[in-house]
Amino acid sequence: MIVVLTGAPGAGKGTQADLLAAREGYRKLSTGDALRKHVKAGTEIGRLAGAVMERGELVSDDLLFRILSEELGTIPTSETVLLDGYPRNLAQAEALDTLKASHPVRAAVLLDVPRSELVSRLSGRRVCGSCGASFHVKEQPPRVEGICDKCSGKLGQRPDDNPGSVAVRLDVFEKTTRPILDYYRNKGVFREVVGTGDPESVYRQLNSAIKGK
Ligand code: ADP
Ligand code: ZN
Repeated sequence: MIVVLTGAPGAGKGTQADLLAAREGYRKLSTGDALRKHVKAGTEIGRLAGAVMERGELVSDDLLFRILSEELGTIPTSETVLLDGYPRNLAQAEALDTLKASHPVRAAVLLDVPRSELVSRLSGRRVCGSCGASFHVKEQPPRVEGICDKCSGKLGQRPDDNPGSVAVRLDVFEKTTRPILDYYRNKGVFREVVGTGDPESVYRQLNSAIKGK
């Protein structure tokens, strides 16, 4: 089964998906992470996607469906998959539905955060180049500046966390991704959680929303 986690860039989908995976045993599948792996490894997909991602635009639906199918293929169908970053437009939502015999969408949950907070979250975000852990210069600073608490790796900014690309990503969410909310509303699986405030309280609400409570 699939649980779609949606929300604007910076809403905290990745962080919450990691928590849910660790505590509830869900499997996280992040298309952004999968793409960044391809970029790092210098695969053909990575070469096609890298520049588009850096600008904050969407990578092609065909490529994304290839990645989605590839990643889903490595997860037993008995598991519940938290899908972080897919679908991002109506065509992708429809493409996901073509897999519904083996991967039905049980819930689609929006993590809702106001735009002003998203901008400050993304501009202050620092990410570990080795383990991927996320920090924030003000809200969640590492113990030693520039160094990951978890693995002592070097912290840096994601290439798409610059002001120009952040603006593009937020606009893409509003114009292109937001329409999928109605798509899932019409299917009766849509839920909404406020994504601001204490991460633990966001976690509790998200966890209940996924379980349909
Ligand atoms: P964020 O949600 O913080 O913007 P992600 O890590 O989810 O970041 O994605 C980073 C980039 O990867 C996106 O801006 C886009 O270029 C690409 N990407 C990820 N998922 C998709 C998707 N489903 N469709 C198209 N492009 C995608
Ligand atoms: Zn690290």
